[in-house]
Amino acid sequence: MLKVREGFLLGLAPDSQKGSPCAECVEFWLQDRKVAVEKMPLSNLTVRRELIPELLLENQSHIFYEIDLDGTYTRLEALVYPHPRCTCEKTNYVAPSEITKRTNFAFSPLTHIKVARFGTPDGNLWLASATGEAPLSGETFTSYGVDRDKEVSRSKAVDEWMKRCVVLDLPRRLARGESVPAEVLQTGNVELITRFLPKQSQFEGMGVGANKEEATLDALFSLAKVRTLKKYSSMMKNPMLVVGANNWMRTKVPFYLLQQYDLHLLFYPNSTQAWVVGLAAFSRQRLEEKPVFAFGAEADINKAIDQVFCKIVEMLRPSEPETEIPRIPNEHPKGHGSKLHMWWTHWIYRCPKISLKDVLHLEAYPRSLEHWRNYFRDGQDLVSVLSVNNHYLPSQIRTLVKLKLSSTDLIQSVPNINGIGTWNDFRDALA
Ligand SMILES: [Zn+2]
Repeated sequence: MLKVREGFLLGLAPDSQKGSPCAECVEFWLQDRKVAVEKMPLSNLTVRRELIPELLLENQSHIFYEIDLDGTYTRLEALVYPHPRCTCEKTNYVAPSEITKRTNFAFSPLTHIKVARFGTPDGNLWLASATGEAPLSGETFTSYGVDRDKEVSRSKAVDEWMKRCVVLDLPRRLARGESVPAEVLQTGNVELITRFLPKQSQFEGMGVGANKEEATLDALFSLAKVRTLKKYSSMMKNPMLVVGANNWMRTKVPFYLLQQYDLHLLFYPNSTQAWVVGLAAFSRQRLEEKPVFAFGAEADINKAIDQVFCKIVEMLRPSEPETEIPRIPNEHPKGHGSKLHMWWTHWIYRCPKISLKDVLHLEAYPRSLEHWRNYFRDGQDLVSVLSVNNHYLPSQIRTLVKLKLSSTDLIQSVPNINGIGTWNDFRDALA
């Protein structure tokens, strides 16, 4: 039991020598948030002692009761992350039995989680943001998630944040001599990765899920997306423009976006086990503004298209007053704006065309790891699946993987032609 402010925080924790998260983890997280906290023996609890057996019955180190001296109390279903400064036995970390909309992140590196709603004719879109400090690198950043479901948007933002953390922390871990286990997708052989990965590709092929299989699948779709776009860029090939989609698209995105941007849905035929689509947003008011691209890849074309609508809301979200960086830029260097705009307009209309109806009727690929394994066994590069979770972001919370191709990274060989429609234009959209 901890004494917090004017009341008590009652929780159950394992012996820190044997497990994690422990009582000290909770103390550290509270201290990080400048909350005065003091450990107390249970005998000091004068009210609501009946909650003690209830906690024992649940036997979870993530459930707490905040008890006021007058006996009022609140139940807290938390997700306690292992604290980086705590010395408890992190290899025995036990996650909460489930993560729900009630899950509270008060004892985690995440300091802010916010959710905003955007109405569309087809229902609400929720934009969630998660801000927190990467446990090792100490960098603070915000990640976003958009979904039709409020809770999914929140967990997407937290997932994205965890992905960024492990990517940022990975070079540090390798530098101090840690190795990362990797399994070759095709053969199941296990190797240990001890060297730095090329920096440009640090966010590529990341995947997250409830377990390794889910995380690997997620990473495979992300890799399929990047590889497809690189192929199109390096061959200077145009995607297909989906026609007859304007009215339909108007039902999918918030009105503020339609007021400011013309949207074009793009389809990228490819040889992987994924449908890859893109959405290009051309500013209607600022001709000098470069188009913004969002991409999606999934086994089911409908899900891939859903991804791009979510992604575009994330990329072109309205600026928040408290952040200095406006998302939609207000000022632009004067110059060849209209020329650039014309170039892009021509680019779009040079694309071969496909009807929305035909795209929506494309048959879904099986969404299974076995299917991908067979695809990669057929004369493709070896793919290593790196298990990149660390002690502070354990796989018991969410499993994170990163894929590594055995061949030299394609990104080096993509021509960097100055101007337009090259890899540089799309790379930002994939970070
Ligand atoms: Zn601890």
